Amino acid sequence: MPTVVGRLAPTPSGHLHLGNVVAFAAAWLSVRQQGGTLLLRFEDVDTQRAQLDVEASIRQDLEWLGLQWDTEVPAQRHRDYGPWLKRVAGRSYRCTCTRREIREQGGIYPGTCRRARNTEGAVRFWLPDTLVTVEDRRFGPRDVVPSELGDPVLRRRDGTYAYNLAVVADDIADGVTEVVRGADLLELSAVQMVLWEAMGADPPTWMHVPLVLGPDGRKLSKSHGSTEVRALRQADWAPEDVWRAVLPWLGLHRLDHVQQAVEAFRPERGPRGPIALDDDLTSPRSQSPT
Ligand code: GLU
Ligand code: ZN
Repeated sequence: MPTVVGRLAPTPSGHLHLGNVVAFAAAWLSVRQQGGTLLLRFEDVDTQRAQLDVEASIRQDLEWLGLQWDTEVPAQRHRDYGPWLKRVAGRSYRCTCTRREIREQGGIYPGTCRRARNTEGAVRFWLPDTLVTVEDRRFGPRDVVPSELGDPVLRRRDGTYAYNLAVVADDIADGVTEVVRGADLLELSAVQMVLWEAMGADPPTWMHVPLVLGPDGRKLSKSHGSTEVRALRQADWAPEDVWRAVLPWLGLHRLDHVQQAVEAFRPERGPRGPIALDDDLTSPRSQSPT
């Protein structure tokens, strides 16, 4: 068996919140249980400028929670994606459609420029119309026709590289064998599988974990400040309180310490649907199982 390599891949556009924690806890538990290696990689290809203060705060929160990584690999801003783009040149094309045109066509890019032979514009990857099955370790098999999600942009019109290219290139370069992240990316994994194969690599295993929704019913984001780990710390939560809140979302109940969770963790157990938080996050007790 090749060694297991997992990764924590935070986007430093916002501080660590409970939605990130459940994904990172699952990534951490899976790697620790298998005796593998866990990487930390900041995914800042989409952010306008380096957010070094946010990165530092994310590292601090991860350490405080005990979500220790083994190696930090270079952030996306330090990497060159040119060679990766070349690798898939035979399956890419230039697209001159504007955001607005795509919105008017229903929001999903219909491949308008596939045969247009444009010499400028964004670079998109031509997805096949075949069915791809994502074998998710939590959700089981999920059939997706990647092209129905729209050909992904690899490099934008302004020359900057896009998330789908960067994340696949990085995971291949870093030797990642398992990807663990929020359920909102489950279907996109089919697109990324095609990219892995187009780049000549074997796709990793996938595990998607339930999304965490704020009291307003929306996916946690910067606007839910009270669910940020640093806010919980300020409200006197201990790391154990955070674990006690999060572990049931991964199907783990009544554990005395984190080491027990490493042994008891089973990717396929626990809820799949979104976790809805109630509005009082100030008391650790309010989110704990009774
Ligand atoms: N950077 C993404 C996030 O912070 C994760 C993407 C991935 O794991 O592939 O949600
Ligand atoms: Zn186009």
